[in-house]
Amino acid sequence: MNYYGEAITKLIAQLSALPGIGSKSAQRLAFHIIDLPEEKVNALADSIRQAKQTVHYCNVCCNLTDGEICPVCANPKRDHSTIMVVEDPRDMAAYERTKEYHGLYHVLHGAISPMLGVGPQDIHLRELVSRLDGSVQEVILATNPTVEGEATAMYIHKLIQPLGVKVTRIANGVPVGGDLEYVDEITLSRALEGRRELK
Ligand code: ZN
Repeated sequence: MNYYGEAITKLIAQLSALPGIGSKSAQRLAFHIIDLPEEKVNALADSIRQAKQTVHYCNVCCNLTDGEICPVCANPKRDHSTIMVVEDPRDMAAYERTKEYHGLYHVLHGAISPMLGVGPQDIHLRELVSRLDGSVQEVILATNPTVEGEATAMYIHKLIQPLGVKVTRIANGVPVGGDLEYVDEITLSRALEGRRELK
């Protein structure tokens, strides 16, 4: 595909490498960017560069942030005795949209998957265990209801149960195989309310 010349072909290739962007969308975005005034293009490029340079994992919960710790961990009004374990920062955002949960989070950035070669050491479990210093009363396992998410929840349950913390799993209101990010807020609230203790 080189009807447009090298510069725009390169831009389309970069855009279509992004998740969820097919080649038609990439062309549309590329033409849109070309039509933008120069200062808007610079602002877009700067925000991409700045996000990449400043965003890192929260020192406590591994959420994405540009400070030392994220706004949720830094908020004294949150319930610091409850930690909800999620796979992805987007799952955390989904629970935040329910406005029903007031505890803290722990973001694993993945799930255990022998098929994909992802083991327990590849997700942020060590950081979770180090947070269980006696001040945490409950750990809610809110990994996705997929094979990987269930395996991860089971693994974490076995790992942290000896530490004497209450371990719960969100209810089955969430469709099996579903991605928490796309589940509506009412379903997520019910899944949270109906969580059961793992013994
Ligand atoms: Zn945090």
